[in-house]
Amino acid sequence: MEDVIIIGGGVCGCSLLYELSRYKIKTLLLEKENDVADGTSKANSAIVHAGYDPAPGAKMARYNVEGNSLIGQLCADLDIMYKKTGSLVVGFDEVDRKSIEKLYVKGNKNGVPGLRIIEGEELFTMEPALSRDIICALYAPTAGVIAPWEFAIAQAECAVKGGAKIEFNAEVAGIKKENEYFVVNTKKGEFTARFVVNAAGVNSDIVSEMADEKFFTIQPKRGEYYILDTTEAHLVNMIVFPCPSKLGKGVLVAPTIHGNIIVGPDSTDCPRESTGSTADGLEYVAKNALRCVPSVNLRASIRNFSGIRADAGLEDFIVGESKGTPGFFNIAGIKSPGLTASAAIAKDVSGMLLDKGLDSTPNPDFVAKRKVTRFKYLSDEEKREAIKRNPLYGAIVCRCETVTEGEIVDALNRVLPPRSLDAVKRRCATGMGRCQGGFCGPRVLDLIAKYANISQMDIPQDREGMYIITGKTKGKRAGL
Ligand SMILES: Cc1cc2nc3c(=O)[nH]c(=O)nc-3n(C[C@H](O)[C@H](O)[C@H](O)COP(=O)(O)OP(=O)(O)OC[C@H]3O[C@@H](n4cnc5c(N)ncnc54)[C@H](O)[C@@H]3O)c2cc1C
Repeated sequence: MEDVIIIGGGVCGCSLLYELSRYKIKTLLLEKENDVADGTSKANSAIVHAGYDPAPGAKMARYNVEGNSLIGQLCADLDIMYKKTGSLVVGFDEVDRKSIEKLYVKGNKNGVPGLRIIEGEELFTMEPALSRDIICALYAPTAGVIAPWEFAIAQAECAVKGGAKIEFNAEVAGIKKENEYFVVNTKKGEFTARFVVNAAGVNSDIVSEMADEKFFTIQPKRGEYYILDTTEAHLVNMIVFPCPSKLGKGVLVAPTIHGNIIVGPDSTDCPRESTGSTADGLEYVAKNALRCVPSVNLRASIRNFSGIRADAGLEDFIVGESKGTPGFFNIAGIKSPGLTASAAIAKDVSGMLLDKGLDSTPNPDFVAKRKVTRFKYLSDEEKREAIKRNPLYGAIVCRCETVTEGEIVDALNRVLPPRSLDAVKRRCATGMGRCQGGFCGPRVLDLIAKYANISQMDIPQDREGMYIITGKTKGKRAGL
């Protein structure tokens, strides 16, 4: 029997797994896919928000600002790519100026440090690519950009090294409370625990209803994006938002931590997990991005993608113990700024669980930190040293992103070894460049097969069933 079962291996589930691994607590995370960070946590704007958007007094506001302040140290400890770039919310007229002033007041109430309203010369010196129709902006120096999937993966890896467990391909289909413990039913069998935490993202309402009375419904909302080539990296230094509307924070233009430019998202109701892109959605994104930054070159797009918000129709997150089912906790309806807030949510929920009587003895095996090699970012001297240490760092596999065989083999040997092309991409950045894996894909497939000792035919692009190789064409022709 476990002390805690966490349902869902997004950034919220993984942050909680990491947080609980500080203590002598038996924790199991159940994830329906074959990797962590394979839901909304891999497909979002990747912004560490400053915290001026949420309503003062809401949990969302507290978690946002606290999460923002925790993220720098966490990223240093976990060796996650993160940069405090600052952000601008830009205004075109007096109506926008009023909403920027409101954001400024809200932000100060929420405790966001360093907010300023700027205009004129100062604004265009800070961000020369802005439209000259812009009259003012809210500057938030604590906003930043991060590799969101890495944030989840790193925390999960440390937690597992420290003794926590993860079951993949274990979709939760039912939850029963029997006396003092929960029985959680999955395709992989039954698991029992004293406490259950629902962190199932867009499915958090479905999972909640397995254990509790229905009290919220998720309306999934899709957001679509363009990713521009690194040739456009000079475009903006900061995250540029329009004024927020009923649809959310609006279409941003921002640098990514990997040196690309991200443009998006829109916001449209959609079925659960419907992550395609649409012509209408992308047209809306393009039109709105060009309004703020007229020189955005969408012809340099190397990828479109979309992510799904878990929108419970509320102005706040649903975090805490269920009233009807003691011992069952929700981290649900975690739309934006959930990525930013996740570490603060995890600390809070971990505190709630400890208050319910879990053992708060420190875990002597707790793994707080990890270190990974990113060859591309090493100095020439460090590169020479790395190749001397391990000649596989001298073999480039992904030429667009300069990813070496050594880094892929490192990832394949870590505690949560990737078993799909995209899982390697999320760990090493293979296939993230201009050719989108066209050249390195087969080589990565080969390496996964070799180190996992499986057939290439059993390796999906991402989720189970998305297989790339289905047979030998030449063999078939030759009748072999
Ligand atoms: C378009 C868009 C832009 C965003 N931009 C930002 C941003 O810039 N900054 C920011 O802070 N936030 C942003 N967010 C919000 C942020 O991405 C989310 O709040 C965060 O990723 C939610 O994490 P999660 O762990 O709750 O959910 P998820 O990452 O979706 O994880 C839930 C997990 O549960 C699993 N699961 C589902 N059902 C079951 C089941 N029955 N059994 C087992 N497992 C199950 C799923 O497979 C998934 O892995 C954005 C979101 C979107 C959609």
